[in-house]
Amino acid sequence: MFDFDNTERTNLEEIGEFGLIDYISKAVELNEKSTIKGIGDDAAVLDFEGKRTLVSTDLLLEGIHFDLRYVPLKHLGYKAVQVNLSDIYAMNGIASQITFSIGLSSRFPLEAVEEIYQGALIACKKYHVDLVGGDTSASAQGLVISVTSIGYADADTIVYRNGAQEGDLLCVSGDLGAAYMGLQLLEREKKIYLENPSVQPDLEGKDYIVERQLKPEARKDIIELFAKLAVKPTAMMDVSDGLASEILHICKQSDKGCRLYEEKIPLDQMTYDTGREFGIDPTVAALNGGEDYELLFTVAQSDHDKIKNQPDISIIGYITPASEGCEMISKSGNVYPITAQGWNAFKKKN
Ligand code: ADP
Ligand code: MG
Repeated sequence: MFDFDNTERTNLEEIGEFGLIDYISKAVELNEKSTIKGIGDDAAVLDFEGKRTLVSTDLLLEGIHFDLRYVPLKHLGYKAVQVNLSDIYAMNGIASQITFSIGLSSRFPLEAVEEIYQGALIACKKYHVDLVGGDTSASAQGLVISVTSIGYADADTIVYRNGAQEGDLLCVSGDLGAAYMGLQLLEREKKIYLENPSVQPDLEGKDYIVERQLKPEARKDIIELFAKLAVKPTAMMDVSDGLASEILHICKQSDKGCRLYEEKIPLDQMTYDTGREFGIDPTVAALNGGEDYELLFTVAQSDHDKIKNQPDISIIGYITPASEGCEMISKSGNVYPITAQGWNAFKKKN
């Protein structure tokens, strides 16, 4: 097992790739029935007993997706797993395994790898997922993490992006925009710190939005709620790039339009207050911010009674014919076309 109190700095060259893999594999437990073989051979072996298999992968690059000046490595490992599991839940599936790959530049010692895996393994344990493999490499510059998650579902329970029907209710879990506000706060504190390293970061009373940015939780509970309520969404995806962009994906793939009501978009009070402080409209944060990892989905009107009193689900609009376009009704009653200005992987960072 890892020695998490290790305060040394062990050069990875000393233990080598196979030493590192061996080290990682000793920290990994296998608990899932569907895992036949984990780390140690050329491939993991899984058995889903007749279910459909779901696979999703994500790549996280230092300087593009995360900034180690304010992201602790343990949180990074945790988040890397969460954002990936979120994609399996977005298919209405159960995540059961991940592979976890790392590229490390020479500035990372063994202890840094320990911290990353510590966070990753906490997420695995909490969500009942086995870590069954990965790949390890040196990187010319910075840290690279890639996670692949694997899950399963019965063929008739899988929910795609393209199933929204006219008249369906447009719904979202939890609240939106908080992770973006958390990012603004962390960026501000980073700037202050870079100008004057003796100033301690001031994150007092902002735990919720900082946590939403650094330590998101994939909404497995919502998938379990669907099963309990006997609701099968007609279309679904997770909110990683901002509500606007995700709504447009569902509408485009379903060949439909929609009406979204600004006043129905769920916002936490802290998102709202921090938005005022920073001069950022919280609706804009929800529409274009991203990294919420909530579930956006559509349900048939006949399911309205089943979901209307669920505290963690908001009905934010409805699906229309494609010819009516994708529109938002603002709080003041004006109609705006929904446009995606969310995260763009090839946008230049400032
Ligand atoms: P190969 O050269 O066949 O790809 P590797 O030596 O890369 O094999 O991997 C050997 C075993 O260790 C495999 O089971 C692989 O999934 C696992 N593994 C390699 N790197 C990692 C890692 N960073 N985390 C977890 N498992 C890993
Ligand atoms: Mg390999």
